[in-house]
This record gives sequence, structure tokens and C-alpha cells, in this order.
Amino acid sequence: METKKVVIIGSGPAGYTAAIYAARANLAPLLFEGFMSGGSPGGQLMTTTDVENYPGFPDGVLGPELMDLFKRQAERFGTHIVSEDIESVDLKRSPFIVRGSSKQIAAHTVILATGATAKRLEIEGSRDGEFWQKGVSACAVCDGAAPIFRNQPLYVIGGGDSAVEEAIFLTKYGSRVYIVHRRDQLRASKIMAERAMKHPKIEILWNSSIEKISGDQVVRAVLLKNLESGETEEREAGGIFFAIGHQPNTGFLLGQLETNQVGYIIIEPGSTKTSIEGVFACGDVQDPTYRQAVTAAGSGCMAALDAERWLSEKGIE
Ligand code: NAP
Repeated sequence: METKKVVIIGSGPAGYTAAIYAARANLAPLLFEGFMSGGSPGGQLMTTTDVENYPGFPDGVLGPELMDLFKRQAERFGTHIVSEDIESVDLKRSPFIVRGSSKQIAAHTVILATGATAKRLEIEGSRDGEFWQKGVSACAVCDGAAPIFRNQPLYVIGGGDSAVEEAIFLTKYGSRVYIVHRRDQLRASKIMAERAMKHPKIEILWNSSIEKISGDQVVRAVLLKNLESGETEEREAGGIFFAIGHQPNTGFLLGQLETNQVGYIIIEPGSTKTSIEGVFACGDVQDPTYRQAVTAAGSGCMAALDAERWLSEKGIE
């Protein structure tokens, strides 16, 4: 089996930046960009439109275009990119073993950059084979412009910045946008909350949940529940969007690394070192707080530098 000095798992801003740095340090990294699992290759920016806060792009840049630039830069310095999902890793032996769907590689260091995936709720009617992707989505920015949502009442579930951002985005398409929140106060930042509350096309349904989604070929209605009174009401609906946070993509690690209660990889503060020597983590998979492309890229750089130092300390040249 081939042994690499650095194997990077994940292809968002964190993974590609780690690859750029590792490749420029002549470590000939191999990067698994993923295929189907977790997010798509390129990570969450592939399903974003304009990115206006990534430094260096004063006029903004499209998410997929930005990721293509990251990828080209990583390849330019000799990163070998494999389009496969990782099925498992063995971090109990050294070198580590990384198993893709068809390729198996030994690695002296592993950089985990698998990001996070939008969470879904188990509402009746929302599952695959029911109305999932037939009016139910976990990404307004990716799906909101689809014809089925035009001039329809749309519902966003959640009360954080994502819910508000998605609701504002959806006002371009829907007849009216309802934010369905389980409490009587938004978690979103003050400025975002004010934008939602002032928006003429947005209404917040406080202390509420959606109990059931129904329709024919596509979504037609939701059963809304007031969580205080317990009363339910069927309302017309053309779309339901989950905006209830993200789940880190760490399932394939099978508990070999220390994570927090919800699965984010724990790293040594001020570094990208995980609980296993030689394994580093960067980007959203270890960051429940900032979750920005630029912070992910910064931590990808840190991971490559940490891996390079570790290899040099172990005399693996
Ligand atoms: P978040 O802040 O964790 O908010 C998740 C929301 O979903 C909360 O309001 C939560 O309700 C609700 N929720 C969670 N589980 C639920 C369940 N089972 N049923 C019903 N509701 C549920 O997640 P986020 O909005 O994705 O934001 C994550 C981070 O990214 C934050 O730091 C945020 O500031 C940042 N962000 C920033 C921007 C921006 O500045 N433009 C945009 C997007 C995200 P409770 O409030 O009751 O817990």
C-alpha cells in the first residue's frame, strides 16, 4: 500500500488551503475531495451564490467559482486530488490507514477537513421518498430559486442567523415567508433579528412548530402547532426550509478521536492538534463558533504547518 506524508480529507476552504500549504512544502499531499457523503466536493460554498465577505474580492465572488480557484491553486503545487468518499480511517496504528470507496492509503499525518452538514428534522412528510426535495429543503440559497417556490407561502424553521438570512433570501421568490421558531425570542444577532422583524414579507410565528407536511406531487400544506396552547392549524405552504444548525461530518471516525457532545472534533487551543498525535483538524468540523470560509481557510493553513512540523520532529522527510 502506498504511504503518503499528508492525507487531507475534505475539499472546502480548509481542506484546499491545507493542500496549498502542504504542497508548497513539498509534502505531495493527497486530498480526498468526497463524492456523495456529507457535503459535495468543494463543501458548503458550492451551494452558495455571492460570497461578499471573503477578503480579496471587493466585488464579491460566486461560491463555486471561489472553490474552483482554491482547487486550481492546490493542484498547481502538486496536490493529488481523489474524488472519493472516505468510508473509514484507522487511527490506532501508525502510519494511519485511510479507506476510500475504492482506494486505500497509509498516511503519516491526516488532516481532517470534512466540514459540517445542515441538520434536518424528522417531521412527517419531510423524509426522502416523501416531500424531501419536493418542497422540503435544508438550503434556501441552493434551492430557493426553483419554480415550485415562486409566489408561494414559504416556511423557514429555526431562529438563528441562518433562519433569518434564508428567510430574507426567500422573500425574492415567495409570496410571504414565515419563520417558525420554537421559542418567543430569536437566537439571531440583533441586527439580523431587526431585519427580519421589519421586513414587510416576513412574519415570525413564535412558539411554533411544524407537525406535518402534506401535498400531492409537491408540498401543499403544513400543520402548524402553537407550542403554548397546543392548538394546530393547517396552512397553505409551497416550501419548508430547515435552518436549525449543522452537524459536523465526523461519523466515519467511529469515535476514534475526542469530540464534544455534538460531534465537533476537539482541538488543542491555538493549534489544530486533535487527541491523536499526527491527526489534525481544521474548518467547520472543529469549529461550531465562527464557521466562515476565511476562518476555515486560516485553520487549514495552520493544520498544514502543524503537520509539517510534526513530520519534521519525527524525522519523516
Ligand atoms: P444556530 O445559531 O445554532 O441556530 C439554530 C436555530 O435552530 C436556533 O434558533 C434553534 O432554536 C433552532 N433549532 C435547533 N434545533 C431545533 C429543533 N430540533 N427544532 C426546532 N428548532 C431548532 O444555527 P445557525 O443559525 O445555523 O447559525 C450558526 C452560526 O453561524 C451562528 O454563530 C451564526 O451567528 C452564524 N451565522 C451567521 C450569519 C450571518 O451573520 N450572516 C448567517 C448564518 C449563520 P433555539 O434558539 O430555541 O435554540
